[in-house]
Amino acid sequence: MLERLAEQPPDPLLAVIGMFRTDPRPWKIDLGVGVYRDESGRTPVMRAVKAAEARLLETQDTKAYVGPGGDLVFIDLMRDLVFGGEAPAGRLVGLQTPGGTAALRAAADLLARAGARTIWAGRPTWANHDPIFAAAGLELRSYDYFDPVAQTVAFDRMAAALERSAVGDVVLLQASCHNPTGADLSPEQWAAVADLVRSRRLIPLIDVAYQGVGRGLEADVAGVRQVVAVAEEALVAVSCSKTFGLYRERTGAVFTLTADAGGRTAATSNMLAIARANYSMPPDHGAAVVRTILEDPDLTREWRAELDGVRGRIRAVRALLAGFGRCGGLDLVPLAAQNGMFSQLPLDEAQIRRLREDHAIYMTASGRVNLAGLKVEDVEPLIRALTAVFEAA
Ligand code: PLP
Repeated sequence: MLERLAEQPPDPLLAVIGMFRTDPRPWKIDLGVGVYRDESGRTPVMRAVKAAEARLLETQDTKAYVGPGGDLVFIDLMRDLVFGGEAPAGRLVGLQTPGGTAALRAAADLLARAGARTIWAGRPTWANHDPIFAAAGLELRSYDYFDPVAQTVAFDRMAAALERSAVGDVVLLQASCHNPTGADLSPEQWAAVADLVRSRRLIPLIDVAYQGVGRGLEADVAGVRQVVAVAEEALVAVSCSKTFGLYRERTGAVFTLTADAGGRTAATSNMLAIARANYSMPPDHGAAVVRTILEDPDLTREWRAELDGVRGRIRAVRALLAGFGRCGGLDLVPLAAQNGMFSQLPLDEAQIRRLREDHAIYMTASGRVNLAGLKVEDVEPLIRALTAVFEAA
């Protein structure tokens, strides 16, 4: 039977990683990775995480299961982090998940169980969004999100598409640090989206994967709070991978906002059933680390300072690049106004190949670059290479 399986195309990102690894040129630059890197090119364990882990090692006295819903204290702390004081706690149900990916999948499964058929996703979006929703049986509809020339949100086109949505449709939004473009909705655009959510009774599914990495812990979720405040129902998928640097510990949460307090019971039991059928119980360690940090004012202070450092480094690299202005035909100025690790440069296939072959600069085939992959000393060689490939065009 298994020989009937059609071979799946390899992940294009893995091919880029493989090529980078075998490139012997010592000045090679990797802009393809999906994780934060510091100025020395490492993805460090945060000091607050190390300290929390040391405490857990001392104090943890069992490895018994945590239960399908995960650690309820972790859930409450994450709810406060994402929704702040405005959390409509009586209508919110939280579930700890193995990372933001499983949070999105649980949200998609819940929507499918509730009878949703389609979900509107922006174009472009994170490469794993479509497969997650397709796996849950949802059909994808697209709205235009990005203007590659202006390097900003194509808001008119986005709003026009959402005007065509049916009442009650589900719409996927990214909270901040949009992957892959770095172009986020402005406060005014979030307000307009909130109006659309209210007037068309849309169900937002908001992906919060970079809280604190863009403009700040509060600013990065201001749009989420605005939309949730007017939505009848909503789903919010949260990842701790970047915010706490916990990638491999698979730490996240999904929150379901029900129309009223009565709806919480059914939503809770369905979320628990989804967890049971997928992975039974979430892994404990990452959530225990987050809980230890957020319960302790000193560790919280340390973690916030480290996150400020992550954000500051990314903003500094963006400002440095934008300072070069135009680089051949490429305008780098918009990079400073974007957020998070990613930008999507308007490069064609030949230019991306030339950057790789002639200049040892690696990125995905879409032109998505991870600016945290740049060391300050890499900025000038990158500018020279971009100028060369644009002048050759
Ligand atoms: N959502 C977006 C937009 C992402 O970029 C990512 C990770 O890259 C995720 C969700 C999922 O993150 P994780 O499953 O590692 O927590």
